[in-house]
Parts: sequence; C-alpha cells; structure tokens
Amino acid sequence: MAALASLPLFFKPAGRRLVLAGASEGAGWKAELLAATGARLEIYAPDDVETPESMLRLTRLHPERVTLHRRSWRAEDLTGAMLAVGDFAGEDEARQFAQAARAAGAPVNCVDRPALCDFQFGSIVNRSPLVVGISTDGAAPVFGQAVRARIETLLPETFRRWAEAARRWRAEVQARRWPFRTRRRFWERFTAQAFAAPGQEPDERLRDALLADAEASDQAAAKGMVNLVGAGPGDPELLTLRAVRLLQSADVILYDDLIAPGTLDFARREARLIHVGKRGHKPSCTQDDINAQLVRLAGEGLQVVRLKGGDPMIFGRAGEEIAALEAAGVPCAVTPGVTAASGAAAGMATSLTHRNAARRLQFITAHARNGALPEDLDWRALADPAATTVVYMGLATLEALAARLLAAGLDPQTPAALVARATLPDETIVHAPVAELAEKVRASDIAGPALVIIGHAVALGPKTTR
Ligand code: SAH
Repeated sequence: MAALASLPLFFKPAGRRLVLAGASEGAGWKAELLAATGARLEIYAPDDVETPESMLRLTRLHPERVTLHRRSWRAEDLTGAMLAVGDFAGEDEARQFAQAARAAGAPVNCVDRPALCDFQFGSIVNRSPLVVGISTDGAAPVFGQAVRARIETLLPETFRRWAEAARRWRAEVQARRWPFRTRRRFWERFTAQAFAAPGQEPDERLRDALLADAEASDQAAAKGMVNLVGAGPGDPELLTLRAVRLLQSADVILYDDLIAPGTLDFARREARLIHVGKRGHKPSCTQDDINAQLVRLAGEGLQVVRLKGGDPMIFGRAGEEIAALEAAGVPCAVTPGVTAASGAAAGMATSLTHRNAARRLQFITAHARNGALPEDLDWRALADPAATTVVYMGLATLEALAARLLAAGLDPQTPAALVARATLPDETIVHAPVAELAEKVRASDIAGPALVIIGHAVALGPKTTR
C-alpha cells in the first residue's frame, strides 16, 4: 500500500461522551457536527465570551444529550471522553488540553493547531448512512473542496434513501443464506438501479423484484463456470467494465505473466489468485495443467476467471482452453479485451489501416513451438506493400523475420516500428525501415513484451520518434 498521510476511520460516537472546549464560532460549528452523530456532547464554554447561537440552539434541541457548561474545562472533565475537541486562543491552553485529553485516553483535536491533533476533520459529503470524508492532510484545501464538489454531484441527495434502504434490507438478504455471488448480484442490481434512477423510491416492491432476480440467478449459477477475460495490453484503465465486474465477483483468478501490476487490484479481495505464467517453463504450468485446473475449479462450483493479456482470442491459446472446458461440460464465456496491436497503434497515434496505403491488416506470430521463426508463414502475403503486418512475440526472431521478408520481395525501406510495453508508463517506440529495425532495437536495450508493426501505414503516423 502506498503511504497514507492520515488514516480515515469512521467513529461511532452515538451515545458516547464527547468533550468540546471553547466558545468561538468555529467551536459552534464543531458542536453541530459532533451533536449530529447522536453523541452525548459536553461543551465547556467559558462565560467571559459570548456563547455562539449554534451551541444554545443545540442545547434547546437536544437537552437530554447536549450539555453546555458555562466555565473553562478542567482535566477531570476529560475522563471517559471518546474524543476531545478544543478551540483556544492561546497556545498554552491548547497544549494543556491536548495533554489532559491524551492522559485520559481520548484522541484530541485542537482547531488550527496540527501539532496538537491526533485526528483531523475531513470535509464531508453527507448522505447518511452513506458518508464520504475527504482529507488533503491540510496540503490543499481548495483542491479538497473541488474534489468534494465533484463527489457531491456524483451522489445525488436521494442516495440517502438508497443507503437507508440498503441498511433495512441487509438482514433480509443475509438471511437467505445465498452464496456470495448471489448476494453480490442482489447488491449489484440494487446499485445499478440507484445510479440509473436515483429519484425512484427504493420501496418494498423494488426490494421484492431484486430478491426474485437474485433467486433466479442463484439457481442458474449453482454450477461453476469459467470466464475467459481479456485484461488489455497493460494499462488497467483499458479493462472493460465487464472485466472489472467479473474480477470483482470471481472466486478464483488464474492469470498470466502478461497481466500488468494494478490490474489485479480490481479483483475481489477474497478471490484466490493463481499465477499460471508460462515464462519460467515450470513443469507445473503447462497448458494441459491450466486446462485441468480450470475444469477442476469450475467443477467445485466456483466462479473462475481466466485472465489473459490483451484479447483472449488473439494468440492466447483460448481455443485449447475452450475445447477442454467444452469436453468437460463446463460452461464458459469470453470477455474481449484490447489487443496489444490496438494498444500499440494508440501509443503511436497511427492508424493501422489506411484507405490508400493499407487495405489489409494481418496479425502473425513470429514464434513457433520451438521458439524459432515459423516456417509456414505466408511470405507472399507478408511482402504485400499494401498491407500492415503486426507481429506478436516477434522480438527474439526479428532479425530472421526481416531477412525472410526482404527475400520474399518486401522493399527494405518499408517503414516499421517496434512498440514495447504498449500502454504502460514505460512504453517505448523504435522507428526504422524494416531492414534496419532489428539492429536499432538491439542497440536500444528493449524490455518486452513488444510488437513489431510493418507497413506504409506506420509512416503515415506522427513523425516524431519517442
Ligand atoms: N492475447 C494477447 C497476445 C498474447 S501473445 C493480445 O491480444 O494482445 C504475447 C505477445 O503479445 C507478446 O509477446 C507481445 O508481442 C504482445 N504484447 C502483449 N502485451 C503487449 C504490450 N503491452 N506491448 C507490446 N506488445 C505486447
């Protein structure tokens, strides 16, 4: 986890003793905030200053739990306090208050004195029971306010009613003893409805419809299944919404070497993550072994996600996995992803097709079973000057490939590029005519995965080489 400037916690002070010292307008506002939690609030406001109207109003509104003491605080007032908040003109008094609070075991906040604060008040978006707290750790109040305004617009006032309904319905959903995924389906549908029609009243009719929908899905999903999911070329922002939803409802996720860091952050926290990378050529991770694992896990009734780089249906051996699942009678579905060629084209800002220069687009792999250049490629098609060729797994055999293409008649000056780690922060692009690309790549210390793109379309993109 990245460093946290502060730890957001949500306290539950209802019925508990909170101590507030001070009589400024700011203290009055804190009084309102603290009283809103249902706490027993003890206010110590010395009577040599005028007590803010907001404090007087609170004591009238909640005489049973808001008490105003017209005197300065004393150390013994802090006994049993869950939290202590003070607003003082003088540094000395603030320091004494903080010391007394800590001695009494109460976290303390002295307004506008960060050194005397165990906790800070964030800005709040209040759709209680849905509450959002925002803190910039004092670094950027204006920025924080803008963030708050954004969140306000995302969460209509009516979300309060939806959050209340969720709280009312929770026990009932829990009582059904559904498996996790069915409960999840209920809450996913609930959430989708809240966002689609926030103004709708979440009433008992809606609840019953959602319960019935989840019940039906429970019966359908009693059996496990496998979702082959494309994770895109690297940048997690290129995951599809469906991929994210499947990652969040999976029981187990089998993922490849190509899955970039950050992608698995979207997985359900409880999901089992199994790395089935083949790069190490470990005997435990053959394709047969992966197929068998998929069948076994789905057979246990689990929701299995097979997460693959790019698009699962492009050089991903999805065909073998689908065949094995079909043979075992395991239901399976596919979620497409952004293939590496699309990611690379985006990074180069270059269209892979062009009405004059590239009427055909071909994807090939330059990596045969034995790791060498495949012999059975269609060299004539690859030498076609009106085509764009995208080469997957082509880094190791780039030199041999280029030699074969030239021998097949491709113009040595045909524009080409190598795109490494497309869509990732360290994406690298090397441009050179096809005859010179291998040498230029060798000189530039490239880390894979990388694609090669060959054809006149490459030259029609922006001229700058990154
Ligand atoms: N199913 C994947 C391809 C798997 S084959 C897809 O649709 O993209 C693995 C090859 O894909 C790598 O050797 C490399 O050529 C290419 N590749 C995958 N991710 C890449 C990336 N981020 N940048 C460049 N090439 C990538």
